[in-house]
Amino acid sequence: MKLAELLTLPSGRRAMPRSIYIHIPFCSSKCGYCDFHSLPLGSISSALRSAYIDRILSRLAECVEAYEAPFETLYIGGGTPTALEDNLFERLLRGVDELAGRGVLEWTLEANPESLSPRKAGIAAASGVTRLSLGIQSMDDGELKVLGRKARSEDNKRAIKLALASGLAVSADLISSIPAEAAPGGGAGPGKRRALAESLAFLLDEGVGHISLYDLVVEKGTPLSGRLVRGELLPTDADEAYEERKEAERRLVERGYARYEVSNFAPPGAQSLHNSVYWCMRSYLGIGSGAVSTLVSEGPVFDPADLATASLRMEEGRDLGAWLAEPDACLSISRLSRKDSAFETIMMGLRTASGLDTERFAARFGGDPESILARTLGIWKGEFGTRSGGRLAVNDAGLDLLNPILVDALIDVEAFFGENDGT
Ligand code: SF4
Repeated sequence: MKLAELLTLPSGRRAMPRSIYIHIPFCSSKCGYCDFHSLPLGSISSALRSAYIDRILSRLAECVEAYEAPFETLYIGGGTPTALEDNLFERLLRGVDELAGRGVLEWTLEANPESLSPRKAGIAAASGVTRLSLGIQSMDDGELKVLGRKARSEDNKRAIKLALASGLAVSADLISSIPAEAAPGGGAGPGKRRALAESLAFLLDEGVGHISLYDLVVEKGTPLSGRLVRGELLPTDADEAYEERKEAERRLVERGYARYEVSNFAPPGAQSLHNSVYWCMRSYLGIGSGAVSTLVSEGPVFDPADLATASLRMEEGRDLGAWLAEPDACLSISRLSRKDSAFETIMMGLRTASGLDTERFAARFGGDPESILARTLGIWKGEFGTRSGGRLAVNDAGLDLLNPILVDALIDVEAFFGENDGT
């Protein structure tokens, strides 16, 4: 089955994707906490990187033909797209613009400070990119070292100033709950406390218009996890980390940035349109090794032919050689049942401050979410707050407690749809 043919599967009625994600799985080096699909540049020859860009563009051309431009949002992420050499970077951006740039409302490019040069910022702006998403993570050299980042605070400062001078909208990622280096005799080493507050203050004073604030997730098997296990790093105290994060959130709100999603903050009108497609469970295409696409059903999905295919999820192969040779041959397709698709829609909707669109949910899945989740709403009364305008949303406290709320929501969804709903 080809990625470009999936809308035509029997029992279709899947929504035409209006957003495209392109994955560039190369980074200048591997960060200590990273378990994303990315390879250090040094492990991939320049010829292979060039073949990768050619393949991305030919695959994009197939998808643009099958799924009919114009598209509303484009997102080139990774990995680190700006880690590509200038000629490949330019070929990629110009090619994407020619194939899919017409009519695009938002085009985001991920960048890392060490590889964002004036030339690359210029190519991005000239190609039609509208938004740069910068992986800053911290402005403290000690924390950047713990994270195994290549950039240091001076690189971050230079990249932020360059990004802002490019005239593009700028978003920056920060990480909270970063562990401290252990001192040789035990206890914390000479790391800086309050680094998150200082990092955030710098970004706000510079005028960065969108901030993503993520808690560090320590994935097993990463170098950072190994250092924690060996006692070289001290895990953060959960209460202290929570307070530090809430203080950062208060600062953001004071400066006019609303928490519009669990980890995302922006003034009105500066929210990410592309990411909203994921949170609203709209269809999107993912192109490139390891990229994920989702085609969701629109309209009712009650008839038996649809029960097993309420949504389709496709992942492009992660084996670079196999993907380059024949991407469609290593495409893995999973069919989400009505129950799984409904739960995912609730889970993603509740991540946002605007919440779940209850009318669209009811039209797709045949049940009013307030009735389906009545038990959960009873348990978490204080976290759902008042409801209005056809939306079901948690409040700020609910965003902090989303995981346990979703455990209850899953029980309710399973009870409503039954254990064997087309899986
Ligand atoms: S820059 Fe991002 S994708 Fe690349 S190694 Fe670091 S965390 Fe992973």
